[in-house]
Amino acid sequence: MIKEILAKKIFQKDDLIKLLETEGEDKKLLFQKANEIKIGEVGKKVYYRGLIEFSNICSKSCYYCGIRKDNDNVNRFNLSDVEILSAAKFSHDNNYGSLVLQAGEIESAAFTIRIEKLLKEINKLSSGKLGITLSLGEQSEETYQRWFDAGAHRYLLRIESSNKELYRRIHPENKLHSFEKRNNCLENLQEIGYQTGTGVMIGLPFQKMEDLAEDLLFMKEMDVDMVGMGPYIEHPDTPLWKFKSELIPIQERFNLALKMIATLRILLKDINIAAATALQAIDPLGREKAVKIGANIIMPNITPGIYRNDYSLYENKPCVDEEPEECLHCLDVKIKLADAEIGYGEWGDSKHFFKRTKTEPKF
Ligand code: SAH
Repeated sequence: MIKEILAKKIFQKDDLIKLLETEGEDKKLLFQKANEIKIGEVGKKVYYRGLIEFSNICSKSCYYCGIRKDNDNVNRFNLSDVEILSAAKFSHDNNYGSLVLQAGEIESAAFTIRIEKLLKEINKLSSGKLGITLSLGEQSEETYQRWFDAGAHRYLLRIESSNKELYRRIHPENKLHSFEKRNNCLENLQEIGYQTGTGVMIGLPFQKMEDLAEDLLFMKEMDVDMVGMGPYIEHPDTPLWKFKSELIPIQERFNLALKMIATLRILLKDINIAAATALQAIDPLGREKAVKIGANIIMPNITPGIYRNDYSLYENKPCVDEEPEECLHCLDVKIKLADAEIGYGEWGDSKHFFKRTKTEPKF
């Protein structure tokens, strides 16, 4: 019985699998419970993180990703510092509270210095009031530390899949794509003092329900502060495209992603959970649906419109022909429809982080 599972305090892998397999009335119960827990533990507010996807130049060749190094059909771009700072200012002026700097993965001294300088500039232009999340992949411990010292305080690094064998099947087998290194990076980030987030793709080829349940347990084991996870969406210019016919239908992947979010909320009650953009690629109201069943973070894309088409990780990426200003109002309306409030100007940091580290929020 689903009711009995939902009433539990400790969840085993089998319980999680049952929750992920719910349909109909049982699924409704799961969603209701997740929403109750969310409101009780982290409240009704949704926090915005303005997302700047500032470069699609990448040194990696992950088999699922449209901006992989070996895809020659990508028009590579790299925003100038002035463009990035003006997007940061947009975030600040519109009271978003926080921003996310995301890009393809580059590990170099020049890149480390560039980000360090940008972080200091962003802090300056917002008088330290903009919260900053980085999502710049695997880096050395020293680089992570330098960026932390320069003012970044959250870091998102998805493990993509916590199953080592599956990880290997969706990445080239070489040093640049090592499962161990990715895990080490997550540990480094936590040690340095970042609010640390991870996540996975849902509905990957070869992925089983058991893998997803293990992913949730991995997040618990790691004691993460934040999670961003969403459906896998195939891209024609990637090696995984050839397994297209083996995938579960896209609507089912969407449905499964929602159930992953709801189950995660029940398992890790006080963390921040992002409503991933990939949800919106499948359903125009995808992110708002996620907010109703457990998510509390939205990352509105504030990358200047002309570059958005070139940051195509997957097919049908939403809003690629819009400018940030156009997204503002349409998003606010949709969030209110999802019976949530927007935490304007607030950092909306992970409550779990403060409990874990016995510290107090800054903003
Ligand atoms: N390179 C950075 C961030 C950029 S990619 C990093 O590794 O952290 C951000 C996320 O997009 C990835 O972590 C991956 O989970 C997701 N992604 C990539 N390709 C995708 C696809 N085809 N479908 C769905 N999500 C995808």
